[in-house]
Amino acid sequence: MGFSDILGNDRIKRILRKALQRQRVPNSLLLSGPTGVGKIDFARTLAQALNCLEMTDDACGHCSSCLAITKGNFPDVLQPVPEKEVLKVEQMRILKETAYLKPMLGKKRIFILERAERLNAAASNSLLKILEEPPGFSHILLLTDNPFVILPTIKSRCQILNFSPISREDIEKCLLEQGIEKSRAKVQSLLVQGNLKQALSLDWEDIQSQRQKAWSLFQALTAGFGSADLLKVYSSLPKNQLTEELRPTLEVLASFCRDVLLLREKAPPENLMNPDYESELREVSAQRSRERILGLWNNIESALYALQRNLNLKLFISSLFLKPMENDNV
Ligand SMILES: [Zn+2]
Repeated sequence: MGFSDILGNDRIKRILRKALQRQRVPNSLLLSGPTGVGKIDFARTLAQALNCLEMTDDACGHCSSCLAITKGNFPDVLQPVPEKEVLKVEQMRILKETAYLKPMLGKKRIFILERAERLNAAASNSLLKILEEPPGFSHILLLTDNPFVILPTIKSRCQILNFSPISREDIEKCLLEQGIEKSRAKVQSLLVQGNLKQALSLDWEDIQSQRQKAWSLFQALTAGFGSADLLKVYSSLPKNQLTEELRPTLEVLASFCRDVLLLREKAPPENLMNPDYESELREVSAQRSRERILGLWNNIESALYALQRNLNLKLFISSLFLKPMENDNV
């Protein structure tokens, strides 16, 4: 796998290839960004490129080094795994000792620490020195979905690569390439917040039942009620589950709003995000005013904004959906 085989984050591909060309790849790197955007693929490809026998700024994917790294049996690329959810000080001690030894087979030694937020304080502290002054032939790649819990002393010693979510269009394209039907790819790409891994693993029946629930809620909300139901369901959930469950629902609700407005503007049905709901969407479009749908869409977007920024969401939902709605003039 070369960089061009990874979907999205082209800016980071350019940065890494340029660094490889100049032989200036930082020895301590923090790959930071949301789940499922391919950080581990980037780390493994970088490990291959640094050891590739045929290419200097990418991984050829077929030389003996690239192949051994893909199979996980290249002695100079190591990936300590968290034990019971924690990367321990003992594992870091071994890493440090190994990092000072010259590579056995390859050109560079690479250490990939997935889920670096699992480094406990002692393990983090033991890494500081090696991150500060690593030997030129060793690279330490820390990966995290949650940079907020990584110690500032670790961050300040690493070059940070910030990954973006993969665009909805790119995910849809990838799903189409996997042979998934167009209307289904559209819906699936909408639900995953730029998380390709999740998009590839979604269960279509689950999605359909989730959308049906969202549709009932959408009908209630456009009719001016439904906030009580929404609150009842979500106010009892713990925060992480709230985010997990509410976000896709809000995304689907927003897509229904968008589709209704498109239909009002006589857009062709193939532009819809939910083509299988066309007749239902037309009904809502005939019954409700443009302002009402726009108002609802705004509220939903604000709730999504609150979700992304960890604001007090329960408060947000209650105030959002309880806002009085003006009379309809269709
Ligand atoms: Zn190669």
